[in-house]
Amino acid sequence: MRVCRTIDEIRAALDQCREGTVGLVPTMGALHEGHLSLLRAARAECDTVVMSLFVNPAQFGDTADLNGYPRDEERDLAVATAAGVDLAFAPSAAEMYPSGFQTWVEVEELGAVLEGRHRPGHFRGVATVCLKLFTIVRPDVAYFGQKDAQQVAVLRRMIADLALELELRALPTVRDDDGLALSSRNSRLSSEERERALALPRALATRDVERARRLLDGLEIDYVEVAPFDPPVLAGAIRVGSTRLIDNVPLEGDAS
Ligand code: AMP
Repeated sequence: MRVCRTIDEIRAALDQCREGTVGLVPTMGALHEGHLSLLRAARAECDTVVMSLFVNPAQFGDTADLNGYPRDEERDLAVATAAGVDLAFAPSAAEMYPSGFQTWVEVEELGAVLEGRHRPGHFRGVATVCLKLFTIVRPDVAYFGQKDAQQVAVLRRMIADLALELELRALPTVRDDDGLALSSRNSRLSSEERERALALPRALATRDVERARRLLDGLEIDYVEVAPFDPPVLAGAIRVGSTRLIDNVPLEGDAS
């Protein structure tokens, strides 16, 4: 696996691979089985697999959350190599947001509800970095997790609105045996906090917004709502100690 740090480097490396299909898996690292499910699908479906590894400062409202985000690049690169990734794109923040940067993508309505209401500017950061990654890598297919259902909805809207030539593939949420959706942030939970966090998947598994709200009573809830995405989901976000957890279950089709 080759590791590219600059836009010029990844573009030059990709120039050699344009005959086949290119799959992109955007990540912020601290890789777990959720990321691996995306990498495996990309490896099975594409000739060249690119994984980006970039903790995108523009999508964090809170500096403490950004600074505390788990980072272990050496391990992530080893995991990506083992998963058969061909090219890792791991740029610096200055490479992605050079001095004078001032162009942003705003998916106005979908980016303002649910997560967007609680994390102003989050989806502006997500949409902007993803559009930039899509422009740099020019993937045929980009892989995302249904765990972040609103991110999928926002990016699908952006792809349609800007007539981008790529397919977005959303893959089911991967969970631990106890039902908690895998997340890089789970490593911050104490065992007592993790026990409390389990209320979220249990509540959403009812697929009933009122029952879910009752089951979460007493916890710090940001929202529990039915979101009209495709497929519609019952989505929730809670805070456990200093960790914020999001999860959702599709209300149609696949049970994950
Ligand atoms: P992140 O590194 O958190 O930005 O996540 C990178 C990609 O992995 C995003 O498309 C996420 O939706 C996806 N992802 C994160 N956690 C999971 C999970 N538990 N199951 C499936 N996909 C996931």
